[in-house]
Amino acid sequence: MQYISTRGHAIGQYSDVLVEGLAPDGGLAVPETMPTVSAETLESWRSLSYADLAAEVIGLFATDIPREDLTRLTHAAYAAEKFEAAETVPLTDIGRGMTLVGLSEGPTLAFKDMAMQFLGEAMEYVLAKTGSSLNILGATSGDTGSAAEYAFRGRERISIFMLSPLGRMSAFQRAQMYSLQDANVHNLAVAGVFDDCQHLVKTLAEDLDFKRAQHLGAVNSINFGRISAQIVYYVWAWLRATDAEDAEKRAGFPVSFAVPSGNFGNILSGYYAKLIGVPIRTLVLASNENNVLDDFFRTGIYRPRTSAETLATSSPSMDVSKASNLERFIFDFVGRDPERTAGLWRELGENGFFDLSAERERFAAEYGFVSGTSTHTDRLDTIRSFAESADITLDPHTADGAKVALPHVEAGVPMLVLETAKPRKFPEIIAEALGSAPEPSAETRALMDAPQRVEEIPADADALRAYIAERAVGR
Ligand SMILES: *Cc1c(COP(=O)(O)O)cnc(C)c1O
Repeated sequence: MQYISTRGHAIGQYSDVLVEGLAPDGGLAVPETMPTVSAETLESWRSLSYADLAAEVIGLFATDIPREDLTRLTHAAYAAEKFEAAETVPLTDIGRGMTLVGLSEGPTLAFKDMAMQFLGEAMEYVLAKTGSSLNILGATSGDTGSAAEYAFRGRERISIFMLSPLGRMSAFQRAQMYSLQDANVHNLAVAGVFDDCQHLVKTLAEDLDFKRAQHLGAVNSINFGRISAQIVYYVWAWLRATDAEDAEKRAGFPVSFAVPSGNFGNILSGYYAKLIGVPIRTLVLASNENNVLDDFFRTGIYRPRTSAETLATSSPSMDVSKASNLERFIFDFVGRDPERTAGLWRELGENGFFDLSAERERFAAEYGFVSGTSTHTDRLDTIRSFAESADITLDPHTADGAKVALPHVEAGVPMLVLETAKPRKFPEIIAEALGSAPEPSAETRALMDAPQRVEEIPADADALRAYIAERAVGR
């Protein structure tokens, strides 16, 4: 399968888009034609383990990786000992027509592990084939950094340099990242805010000489490898939710999904699952107070906000005001027309927005997208209300998903709410909602007490260049 950029140029195959994020023309990589699977094929996947299903689904996109190799990679990525739940992704009925899809059973307790664990295996495999190495540079304000570090720790051909804002992450997030002692993991606390970290990454990524000399790469949310690995759990959740005795309730039986969203990565994978043939009725996009995407799906006007306009909320991993994956959906929405896509992004650059309001009915009618916003009060109320009615603690992001999903629940259509993190990652907010946070487990206490390894650096590109140049692998 060939990949093209949303701005029109050919890119290469899966192995190429796995290592490169952005296409050279500034667009994002998408399959030249979307693969599809028949209802019979979907049915034949019903008895597969998560790892075997992952090989089937990712195999539709990774046609340049031999199937037996891919199966080895997915079995390593989704090995039983890495996930708390025996079934890797468990489904739990939480009442009100909703089912929780447990995507946070992996090593860092957030859904980002689902894709990142696969990416760790797949990147090492591709690099080994070509005898090359990679230094991953990233910025994080929370879940992405830890998921990436746990996926790449201890790997031979890969080092990871992760910038985080000094003193701005939660105690749990700091402990998760900074307690890693692997020699190939470099935690850099930057004297500044998240934006300064992102700016440093951008500066170095644009320094093509440095980038080439140091073999710099990225694993951010536009990485197509991550998008492809996320499609797997939509297929898995559909298979589990429709696992009825009665054959009529299986093939073609529709479900809806509610997705706590920020960069539009997770829900884009849901949209792709629908395109390949999974019977998905509605894709409910949930925003927090940073509701750029909810605005877009309601009005048709896409207007990203500046970092100064981005609020710090109690669902922090959704504090995003520019949805980097949206271009992939827009590309399809405008009939896969690269000129029109590039034109919209040109308008965005010039005016700060683009306007598709004349066609906004099509979001729901043709694609099944609906959206809504959940605020701090909604979040706390939702956590409280499900604790009472279903005896379950939702994490703050998942609570946003459940709150926005509620008015979209239809009789006879399971509403599958994606659990994007575990509540114990956010004890302060759970305590605010429920009066007390759950007792930390022995594991959590050990993590919090473990020695931490982090280097403080100024928000200065030259200081970062020097640090990387001294420690990068494979020069
Ligand atoms: C990253 C993240 C999100 C947002 O996902 P996107 O793919 O950026 O839309 C939501 N919840 C949690 C807990 C996350 O870590």
